[in-house]
Amino acid sequence: MGKALIIGCGGVASVAIHKCCQNSEVFEEIMIASRTKSKCDALKQKLDGGKTIIKTAQVDADNVDELVALINKFNPDVVLNLALPYQDLTIMDACLITKTHYVDTANYEPLDTAKFEYKWQWEYMDKFKEAGICALLGSGFDPGVTGVFSAYAQKHYFDEIHYLDILDANAGDHGYPFATNFNPEINIREVTANGSFWENGEWVETKPMEIKRVFDFPQIGEKDMYLLHHEEIESLALNLKGIKRIRFFMTFGESYLTHLKCLENVGMTSIEPIDFNGQKIVPLQFLKAILPDPATLGSRTKGKTNIGCIFKGVKDGKERSYYIYNVCDHEECYEEVQSQAVSYTTGVPAMIGAMLIMNGIWGKAGVYNIEEFDPDPFMEALNEWGLPWTEDWNPVLVD
Ligand code: NDP
Repeated sequence: MGKALIIGCGGVASVAIHKCCQNSEVFEEIMIASRTKSKCDALKQKLDGGKTIIKTAQVDADNVDELVALINKFNPDVVLNLALPYQDLTIMDACLITKTHYVDTANYEPLDTAKFEYKWQWEYMDKFKEAGICALLGSGFDPGVTGVFSAYAQKHYFDEIHYLDILDANAGDHGYPFATNFNPEINIREVTANGSFWENGEWVETKPMEIKRVFDFPQIGEKDMYLLHHEEIESLALNLKGIKRIRFFMTFGESYLTHLKCLENVGMTSIEPIDFNGQKIVPLQFLKAILPDPATLGSRTKGKTNIGCIFKGVKDGKERSYYIYNVCDHEECYEEVQSQAVSYTTGVPAMIGAMLIMNGIWGKAGVYNIEEFDPDPFMEALNEWGLPWTEDWNPVLVD
């Protein structure tokens, strides 16, 4: 049916690319373009032989001219941005110039400030409308599926949703004392930042890891989880009718938190450049270089993830609560696509978002968060492409 340009060739991209190749009716041709072309070539070599035609290219996604030249040469129906949040705006600029649809999984974050928010990308609304192209923001799991779950709950089960708790548990064990499951720099920037949640129309800020709860996750068991700021709160606060509070919790093991605290205390998580032997280095970037590459964790990781949303609200004047979640098994993911479940749970929705734009089921001119589209086709595709969901009408609520 069409062509997709996929930018980035890391953990998430690798899963999305495997899934595009499984879905060759839609993804007839893909181009994998990234900073390090050898990674793209290695993946192509592994996946070649199926129906999807795979091309590769080197690209610096910080450079709009290079991106425009590449898009003009390949002429894709959609650009799927699976590089890092720092590249969102340059890739959106290139999509505007070439009038090509855009999909990503994480909102823009400037390299020198650990503060991610949607304002930079939302500012493109009018330009995308004028160009007649669609930007689908946040088509991973969280953000991504959590927004689709929210739109689904709102469409089918509630007149108003008042409370939403997003719970992200990873009970995977990779055997290392400390490693991150996706890009270490992005991950550590996220978890060392202040937490925050949305309540009664405003942000309430917390210290990092200040709010802790214990939750008994289906198929995983009891885990400590901590309140974090998370990007989908910002858009869901605008898009859920009648919403009073949105919180996001993520589980962390004791070893992870102890190592993180120690690294933080000695300054290794700082993003301020320091002089080292006559060279400027950013401690966090150096730390990334010595930590295990998340893409290599797959073969060692055992256990499951469980990510979902608990809603409380009203339907026909009556209070109701509803929990919807996906459970994903690290070893099963590895067997299928040689990646662990954190990359899998992001890469599959990235493919689905690109597919819905390519086949015209989704796609309105402008810049939209995922919950602004009809959730039904996405929900169906989740069941079909490896992330089935489970519903619970009587969940234990988080206090
Ligand atoms: P990785 O670090 O594994 O991969 C990033 C890829 O982008 C690498 O191939 C890297 O190239 C490439 N890249 C980086 N900078 C550039 C550049 N300037 N030009 C071209 N290519 C570049 O990250 P992940 O796969 O773990 O994460 C990918 C994205 O997914 C991130 O934005 C992350 O925030 C997001 N994410 C979203 C989640 C969600 O649920 N919504 C969950 C997890 C991640 P090189 O190989 O040379 O380093």
